[in-house]
Amino acid sequence: MDILDILFPKSCVICSKHGDYLCNRCKKLFKKSLPECYRCRKISPNYLTHKKCAKISSLDSVAVLWEYNELSSTVLKKYKYGGVLDIEDTFLELIEKRLSEIKESIILGSKTLVSPVPISKNRLRERGFNQTEKIAEVISKELNRTFMTDLIMRKNSDSIHQSLLSKEERLFHKEGFFVPNGNLLKSITDILIIDDVITTGSTLEQITKCIKKVVPKMSVKSICIFRGKPYYKRQEPIQ
Ligand SMILES: [Zn+2]
Ligand SMILES: [Zn+2]
Repeated sequence: MDILDILFPKSCVICSKHGDYLCNRCKKLFKKSLPECYRCRKISPNYLTHKKCAKISSLDSVAVLWEYNELSSTVLKKYKYGGVLDIEDTFLELIEKRLSEIKESIILGSKTLVSPVPISKNRLRERGFNQTEKIAEVISKELNRTFMTDLIMRKNSDSIHQSLLSKEERLFHKEGFFVPNGNLLKSITDILIIDDVITTGSTLEQITKCIKKVVPKMSVKSICIFRGKPYYKRQEPIQ
């Protein structure tokens, strides 16, 4: 037995069973999401946004791995804020396995770039690292696509004094995201954005609009780890 296992015995974050940060029984409790159109939430093959729904949204498809509920929110919180870094391996392995089950049904261009939803520099300083970035990296490997950070960046809203801006500038900054290298974006056709939890999809919409301002024909898709049922309300905000 590893000395670390003796000093810091692992136990399941859900049921406390000794052995691993997630026991096999609890892993099975993750509820797999069905392929649906992210906008109207009705079943849609290949996770594609229905033609009708595409009139009011700009993402081509959004694939969700599991349902967001009490169980998944506990695991995600431990991963993001728990300080138990080792749960990272267990969680990322689980994501990899689930993705291998559904990847054939996600339609992707061969040169798709995989990028995480960015966090602001302030938040990065607080947390030390962007957890979604790790998830995106694992996903890009499993899908055999190129991983890239900083394709889209989040504005540091705290550092912008709103009162000093004109009305137009305020509107611009309200969007929260920007593309730092427009030329790079012009050389690609497909982007896959990775997020941990999707609720209404407004963050992804903002990012997509930001990208399409530079390249209107860009195909933007997404993979999100969790999404609650339409009526599920989060207990507390996940950042
Ligand atoms: Zn357990
Ligand atoms: Zn739809």
